[in-house]
Amino acid sequence: MGEFEIIARYFTRPVHRGDVLLGIGDDAAVLDIAPGHKLVVAMDTIVEGVHFLPGTSAADIGYRALAVNLSDLAAMGAKPAWMTLSVSLPEADEGWLEGFSAGLFELAQRHAVALVGGDTVRGPRVVTVQVAGWVEADGWLSRAGACPGDLLMLSGVPGEAAGGLAAMQQRLEGEAAARLQQRFLRPVPRIALGRLLRGIASAAMDVSDGVLADLRKLCAASACAAYVDVDALPRSTALETLFPPDACLRHALAGGDDYELLFTVPASRLAALEAALAAVPAAAASSAGETLPQVRRIGVMCAGQGVQCLRQGQPFELPSSGDQRRQDDRPQGGYDHFAAP
Ligand code: ADP
Ligand code: MG
Repeated sequence: MGEFEIIARYFTRPVHRGDVLLGIGDDAAVLDIAPGHKLVVAMDTIVEGVHFLPGTSAADIGYRALAVNLSDLAAMGAKPAWMTLSVSLPEADEGWLEGFSAGLFELAQRHAVALVGGDTVRGPRVVTVQVAGWVEADGWLSRAGACPGDLLMLSGVPGEAAGGLAAMQQRLEGEAAARLQQRFLRPVPRIALGRLLRGIASAAMDVSDGVLADLRKLCAASACAAYVDVDALPRSTALETLFPPDACLRHALAGGDDYELLFTVPASRLAALEAALAAVPAAAASSAGETLPQVRRIGVMCAGQGVQCLRQGQPFELPSSGDQRRQDDRPQGGYDHFAAP
């Protein structure tokens, strides 16, 4: 099967968006942007052996390649619209392409994202998705903007994805392991939540490297510090079934791949946040079959720099895991592809 057959068979789907003036098949795509909106663009690459374990199903890889990008748009308060796709493959494996495109388009259809172009080459298995969307001209969210006194909020249950990865690596079985694995393999981009946070959150980002590592980035961008109340973190029954308390806490604070939203809200807008969350379920369900995650207050922003955890009101340091295989386990770091081993 040749390159053009691959594109035609697996990546060319009917487009139902009026803003795609020219899609796959020409030299470039031509897209329409509604007046009063800004274009928001993100890109993520996933590499076999780095971002997914060898043996991960092609459908899970396709889903994930888009999900991590949609999560970035969610963090900006944007509504996704289009994507481009670069695939490098060692061979034209039809079974793999079938699964990959099924996983990719399953999520794309849920959010009405059109694939408008890309590139297909032979090489090591690497997938890059670029996603673009729009946000109202004055409505985008960013990591900068948190102020001392703002409440620190987190969606979802932190650590479940990291627990899922650990469960896969340790070949754990059973219901809890399956649930956590699903959280790792099929993260749910929080588009509806991101849209809802426009005009409410003072800063936002998605959690890909772990709560503490990503919170440090938000603090740096906002030029302030944060306290995290460890006792306020949502707890996962599935995690607690499989791992000892120390490991649960480490997954929750330092585990990556949850793709939940971490954001700050001025105390004066807390009521508005609660009202918006309460109003949403019906509307969100109709848009992308997306139910809103739980949102919890996990700390507070303050003057200064860096992140301090508190447990029962006392300063608390996350104990090291003693496991250097995955950098995400390091409480201080977050994943750095070029960090010295
Ligand atoms: P060019 O040589 O002009 O760069 P290509 O021959 O690489 O174009 O691609 C032909 C068309 O197919 C283009 O519209 C391109 O965007 C699209 N395309 C190529 N690979 C993919 C892919 N993996 N997914 C979606 N569209 C693709
Ligand atoms: Mg060309």
